[in-house]
Amino acid sequence: MCNSNVGTKSGSEDSSFNNLLLCALFICGDSMDIDYLTECVDLAIRASELDEVPVGALVVKNNKIIGRGYNKKESSNLCTRHAEVEAIEKANKSVGSWRLDNCVLYVTLEPCLMCCGAILESRIDKVVYLSKRTNVLYNSSDYINSILYDDAVDLKEKYLDILSDFFKKKR
Ligand SMILES: [Zn+2]
Repeated sequence: MCNSNVGTKSGSEDSSFNNLLLCALFICGDSMDIDYLTECVDLAIRASELDEVPVGALVVKNNKIIGRGYNKKESSNLCTRHAEVEAIEKANKSVGSWRLDNCVLYVTLEPCLMCCGAILESRIDKVVYLSKRTNVLYNSSDYINSILYDDAVDLKEKYLDILSDFFKKKR
């Protein structure tokens, strides 16, 4: 009887502690999103310096970056060298598995359909992106769990400037 009471009490304490922990993780996760997206923009700048369309991506697991990538389509002469693919491949190597369970992919630009396929294949849980593609007839969220990050107005403006500068140079 006594034991069962103790059990119940500690059980409820456990559950409120777990709720608190979940809350803290949620808040922490949210505030980290902008840091990860800022690093994605830095990677996109590296791509533009190499005359590549500026796109940068990261894979994060348990608040640790396990893969980074930026677009290298021109320099590699490979149509598949998108930032997301490079970040996913590096993450695969880092965990020693093709499965990227419990991972989040951050990327500057909404993923293309090829990358949506790679994201599905890798079992990545969630994608957070900074800027929506405007010239396509699909929504990535129809295929993957993707979220447009809307709380970083300055960062988004900075990225859109980088993108438009790049295409102005190309014209
Ligand atoms: Zn892509």
